[in-house]
Amino acid sequence: MKKSLRKTNLLKSLFDVEEGYSLTQAIAEADRCLLCHDAPCSAGCPAETDPGKFIRKLRLKNLKGAVRTIKENNILGGVCGIVCPAGRLCEEKCSATEIDKPINIGRLQRFLVEYGWQIGFNPLIKKPANNIKVAVVGSGPAGLTCAAYLAKEGYDVTVFELNKKPGGILRYGVPSFRLGEDFADREIKDITALGVKLKCNSPVKGKGAVENLLKKGFKAVFACAGLSLPYKIDIPGAHLKNVTTSTEFLKDAKAGNHEKISRLVKNKCVAIIGGGSVAMDVASTCRALKADKVYCIALEGMGELPAYKDDLLMALDNCVIIKPQCRVKEITGKGGAVAGVKGNETKWKVKGPGLFIPSNAEDVPGAGFSLNAGAVIIAIGSGPDSRLKEQLPKVKFTKRGLIQVNKNTLATSAKGVYAGGDIVRGPALAVDAVADGKKAAKAIMKSLQGGK
Ligand SMILES: Cc1cc2nc3c(=O)[nH]c(=O)nc-3n(C[C@H](O)[C@H](O)[C@H](O)COP(=O)(O)OP(=O)(O)OC[C@H]3O[C@@H](n4cnc5c(N)ncnc54)[C@H](O)[C@@H]3O)c2cc1C
Ligand code: SF4
Repeated sequence: MKKSLRKTNLLKSLFDVEEGYSLTQAIAEADRCLLCHDAPCSAGCPAETDPGKFIRKLRLKNLKGAVRTIKENNILGGVCGIVCPAGRLCEEKCSATEIDKPINIGRLQRFLVEYGWQIGFNPLIKKPANNIKVAVVGSGPAGLTCAAYLAKEGYDVTVFELNKKPGGILRYGVPSFRLGEDFADREIKDITALGVKLKCNSPVKGKGAVENLLKKGFKAVFACAGLSLPYKIDIPGAHLKNVTTSTEFLKDAKAGNHEKISRLVKNKCVAIIGGGSVAMDVASTCRALKADKVYCIALEGMGELPAYKDDLLMALDNCVIIKPQCRVKEITGKGGAVAGVKGNETKWKVKGPGLFIPSNAEDVPGAGFSLNAGAVIIAIGSGPDSRLKEQLPKVKFTKRGLIQVNKNTLATSAKGVYAGGDIVRGPALAVDAVADGKKAAKAIMKSLQGGK
């Protein structure tokens, strides 16, 4: 997209949530759809939300039908409409039709879900209870989706969540300027309305705890605990005051601990280590909290950054400075707190896809740098909690500590235990977690109904 045509994303506060479409805007947008016979957009959605079908219904002014298509296919359709990097998914396939610009599928999806709420239309019909109990461990998008689809079919589903509130990363990671808390809460209400029992502040912990749920009357378990352990870097100064991780920082931002994070970054220069979407979210959040200057220091070159384009553009709109192909080697301190960072420019030893990894980067001789900074935020990703192996002793894990599953059914090596979402895929997307939740629900039902 030409920069001149793009709306800038200058954040005034952490709560600058983008407005949804009005009915007139939504109909005008849907009217641009070419109604392709093969709907390539639908093929681009990992969760099979079927935008081709709901946009066709919207064009024919069958609004309730359009809402039904979304909610039946994707119980978190509203949230996905907001958080999906649609330009790389459904909308990318739409642009293949070479109309002037792709249909804004995400915004139409969000509009329709909100429209359903406004007119009090609930398209989800629950089947009579069958009294078969299923447990879900983790209330992120994978767990919520699996729970909703099972509950809709009459299953008695309990979701165990260690945090105070449900939603996983949607609640504690995705910044408020993208996804408002009220919106996520409203969509979670559609799930509890199906009879799903949400038990927050209820970690499943201890030796064999997840598998033992099968001995407590649950006929199947879906484990979807996500990636909760932020990676740290082992460099001098990593222990200093005012060094934190993106996970902690964004969690505080979402939990409303604004005084604490403002104190960390306001009127300061902040160095963020990382070049992915999470690093960009942290950087934009710092700017919304009035950080003076924000650097994102990344190993990758500018064109190689792992951040999604929209997240990168948002950070750039908010005057974040990207320092590409650089490695931080030390966090310097004064009086026990961060005073700056020192590092070196790098180049790749070997060039090629999949080789953007620390072990393939080498220092450019004589290209050291240092920056003054009052805070450092490490945003280099998260991994699985190592205690999960203890909770699931019969389950096979990969070398990276992710759960191994049968790709078709998401069944693990322990009978009756299924797994999905980030704990299986590694860092992925909310819509991928929704896809896994649906797949696991289908496989669980098939297995509990004797293969039917
Ligand atoms: C900062 C950040 C921003 C992101 N932004 C986007 C975005 O804009 N768009 C997008 O599509 N994707 C985004 N993602 C990725 C997306 O959020 C994840 O892919 C998705 O949330 C994974 O879903 P999940 O259900 O597998 O796990 P999670 O969302 O991580 O949920 C797992 C849940 O399990 C709970 N849990 C863990 N252990 C236990 C236990 N023992 N007992 C009970 N509960 C337990 C956790 O507390 C958590 O609530 C982002 C990720 C991050 C980190
Ligand atoms: S869920 Fe996401 S990827 Fe799927 S159609 Fe909707 S916006 Fe596109």
